[in-house]
Amino acid sequence: MNPFFESYDTTFGTIPFNKIKNEHYIPAVTKGIEEAKAEVDALVNNADVPSFDNVIVALENSGETLTKVTSAFFNLNSAETSDEMQAIAQEISPLLTAHGNEVAMNAGLFAKVKAVFIGDQSNLTTEQKTLLEKSYKGFSRNGANLNETDKEKLKAIDSKKSKLSLTFGENVLKESNAFEMHLTDEADLDGLPEGVKEAAASEYKDKFGNKSIEESDDSSGNWIFTLDYPSYIPFMTYSTRRDLRQKMHRAFGSKGFQDNENNNEEVIQELVRLRAERAALLGYESHAHYVLEERMTKSPSIVFDFLDNIQEKALPFAKKEFEELSAYAKKLDGIEDLQKWDSGYYSEKLKKEKFAIDDELLRPYFQLEKVTDGVFTTAQKLFGITFHKRTDIDTYHTEVVTYEVKDENGKHLALFYADFFPRAGKRQGAWMTSFRSQKMIGDTDQRPHVSIVCNFTKPTETKPSLLTFNEVTTLFHEFGHALHGMLAKGTYSSLSGTSVFWDFVELPSQLMENWCYEKDCLDLFAKHYETGETIPADYIDKIKKSANFMAGMGTIRQVGLGKIDMGWHSIGHTERSLSHTEVTLSEVEVRRVNENDSKSARISTPLRMTSVKAFETKQLEGLDFYPEVKETMTSTSFSHIFQGGYSSGYYSYKWAEVLDADAFEAFLEKGIFDRETAKSFQENILSAGGTEHPSILYKRFRGREAKPDALLKRAGLV
Ligand SMILES: [Zn+2]
Repeated sequence: MNPFFESYDTTFGTIPFNKIKNEHYIPAVTKGIEEAKAEVDALVNNADVPSFDNVIVALENSGETLTKVTSAFFNLNSAETSDEMQAIAQEISPLLTAHGNEVAMNAGLFAKVKAVFIGDQSNLTTEQKTLLEKSYKGFSRNGANLNETDKEKLKAIDSKKSKLSLTFGENVLKESNAFEMHLTDEADLDGLPEGVKEAAASEYKDKFGNKSIEESDDSSGNWIFTLDYPSYIPFMTYSTRRDLRQKMHRAFGSKGFQDNENNNEEVIQELVRLRAERAALLGYESHAHYVLEERMTKSPSIVFDFLDNIQEKALPFAKKEFEELSAYAKKLDGIEDLQKWDSGYYSEKLKKEKFAIDDELLRPYFQLEKVTDGVFTTAQKLFGITFHKRTDIDTYHTEVVTYEVKDENGKHLALFYADFFPRAGKRQGAWMTSFRSQKMIGDTDQRPHVSIVCNFTKPTETKPSLLTFNEVTTLFHEFGHALHGMLAKGTYSSLSGTSVFWDFVELPSQLMENWCYEKDCLDLFAKHYETGETIPADYIDKIKKSANFMAGMGTIRQVGLGKIDMGWHSIGHTERSLSHTEVTLSEVEVRRVNENDSKSARISTPLRMTSVKAFETKQLEGLDFYPEVKETMTSTSFSHIFQGGYSSGYYSYKWAEVLDADAFEAFLEKGIFDRETAKSFQENILSAGGTEHPSILYKRFRGREAKPDALLKRAGLV
């Protein structure tokens, strides 16, 4: 029997992982889609007057089997995959996409949703209004209001757009793969840590095997460095060879910007044009206006003001840091002209000199079990919740541990799964997810089943799992997301827990990280795994200070990337000049047309460079301290915004930091374990999920809008 076809008869209704076999997924997805379709048909064919209940709630509750199978499948495909699972994913993904498109294009369904949306909303609660708007926008933002001709136009734009994004990514990948730096003399490896050398040697072996290594001389060998981060970053950080750093930097920065078939300049211009055209078709001033409609920031002008404000405050500090770094490089190696390829190297050296602290020194104080207890105790002190280990809950792997979470009255609140260690079959990184989200089913509150998945340092035969400080903050971070899920108290699962606007979702997670830097919190759990000694106060001081090292330059770098992103995407589909960019799309287009006039112009590059590169340079005006490197730029390999989903969203990294620092300041004002402040954060943010606009929720918690002051103070930029 297919377990997805029955209700789960496990304790707490958890997923019966041990009963699920790979052959269950495809039949369950197929049946789930059929059921969802039948439910939507019934809703559309309902002869009653369209109402919030018979349209919006009915739609919200449709597809139960589909939700059941997909929330099990995709979670496992990330945490415990196999070739077979991946093959199943290849098969079910197109089915799900087709089903999603069919629902989005269902004119009868949209007519009903629209009837409710433009109807009388006065008897709806705030949460219901939010759900209604979200449902309506889900259709309208995808063209449901357009006439047939424009719908066809939109379809054509979308298909071109997704092809171009793919091309962009493929070009970046091809450029990355086309470069390798093959070193054969050990002297060229000067400064690199042993681990980095070993990785470079095995990179060579992976590529060529052992065959061409000639061990004639002790100092010769074969090492390959690539533009992949794990190879590139350590090289740029530790290599004493300035010439080789320069070579690597140039290769890295010229991805998609060389005269070859992988050039991304035209791809960018066309993608930007299509995004602007799409936005205009849907009635928005620009792509950024379209995206930000569903963000906390609401409009491009707010984002630009935000970036300008941070820039103004951080710039004097960044300048000072740059001068300090230049002076340091001069003193150390007589460098007269500090270049971009020197930045990582001298920063690392200066940091070491100023704060002699490293991972190996800290690890003994961060035993995983103790850190986990510390997180739980912190949550108990703040929200009164407690964690109780369970051994009777089905998991997908023996390493997964489970807890029942209870509220301050001892009432069941949630289930918490933790999957800490790397395995073959688990993807990189760390994330929070849920197997079941919170919602109301009639009068019954369905409590959530939340999970965090990490890739932490494993225990060895002689040592328990001892975390780096970065892993400690990662645990607190993911736990913050988990709290958002576990403390959810909504009616509808699409507005529950972490289902909030993109630039608001990192607030709970980043907020939790703040406790890792506080002595009162570290004293709870940061105890030496052998001696039990509490972490020395001067270590904490050094952790804090080193976290702020070069904060000004880091901030300016982030502002710059945010501006490049906003610059490209606030271009409107008209000839109107934009106050912030002063370069219009028509200008970009004219240049492009000129290039097409003659093939030779395409090859002689200056004309082409003046468009994409000049546009980027304009956005970065006053933000770049290093001498310009003319053969490199960011845009042509800025995959976040041209391949992934971050277009008009890069600012949200800094935005989330502003929110978390500002929110944490509320705790600092009253004490980091202040119950009242925590209660307000719980009620107004964590439990509220996406039920209301985030700026309203935030104001309710903080009594005012977020200000960047706390972030600047925390980063030492005041
Ligand atoms: Zn996060």
